[in-house]
Amino acid sequence: MLYIGYHLSSVNGFRAMGEEALKAGANTFAFFTRNPRGGKAKDIDLDDAKALIEIISGSPEGASGALPFGPLVAHAPYTLNPCSDKAKVREFAHMCMSDDLKRMEYLPGNYYNFHPGSHVGQGVQAGIEMITDLLNDIITPSQSTTVLLETMSGKGSEIGGRFEELAQIIDGVKCQDKIGVCMDTCHVHDAGYDIIGNLDHVLEEFDEIVGLDRLKALHINDSKNPLASHKDRHARIGEGTIGLDAIGRFINHPKLAGLPCILETPNEFEGYKEEIVKLRMY
Ligand code: FE
Ligand code: FE
Ligand code: ZN
Repeated sequence: MLYIGYHLSSVNGFRAMGEEALKAGANTFAFFTRNPRGGKAKDIDLDDAKALIEIISGSPEGASGALPFGPLVAHAPYTLNPCSDKAKVREFAHMCMSDDLKRMEYLPGNYYNFHPGSHVGQGVQAGIEMITDLLNDIITPSQSTTVLLETMSGKGSEIGGRFEELAQIIDGVKCQDKIGVCMDTCHVHDAGYDIIGNLDHVLEEFDEIVGLDRLKALHINDSKNPLASHKDRHARIGEGTIGLDAIGRFINHPKLAGLPCILETPNEFEGYKEEIVKLRMY
């Protein structure tokens, strides 16, 4: 079963996201847990959360005719920086993420993905330490959510462009069963991992350094830039430097089977719907 969907807008609530996913032929999706720029989150509407759970747990034979759903992949605001050089910025990331994890429990058993952050000149090791400290502060043994570190393109002083950095963060996390990785095709390609010409090798390398059992979700994007450009500009599937064939091979790779695939391509509803059809047929 291919679990595929895209990043939905959460402004109209959970039920609306579930309904839009069904209309688009999606059987997973991503959403921002709050305004992507950070800031105060709306209170969770319990009935709305329940309505979404009902939609995604509907059987394939159910009235909706929906495909079975894979786990959802929530995304933390991308402006958070857990390893900023400013204590205020780090505290803000702490507050947002800790609050988000409480709110995620209304949709139990899903994923919460975040960008590890930029060390802004303090050095990779200092940054990794701050990220690990934050995770150990906010992750609780009783939570049902798995927190995912996203693989990054390594632009500027971004942490997470190398698998070694993710492995080091994971090593420092106390609740080992609550931490994983989300691999973004545009980001790993821009970081210098050749998923076009040598996907097997990239996955072997990931397995050796991080462990494939840590890989829980995939972001499926084409890239506007060449291999190792350290840029992070997403393109529509088949309109970038990675191309439809490499992305088709990626989502169908046996080692990645069953992982939720989230499109973060520059599209509106119709465009996403078409990409989902295209990738399901690949
Ligand atoms: Fe992201
Ligand atoms: Fe991504
Ligand atoms: Zn990106």
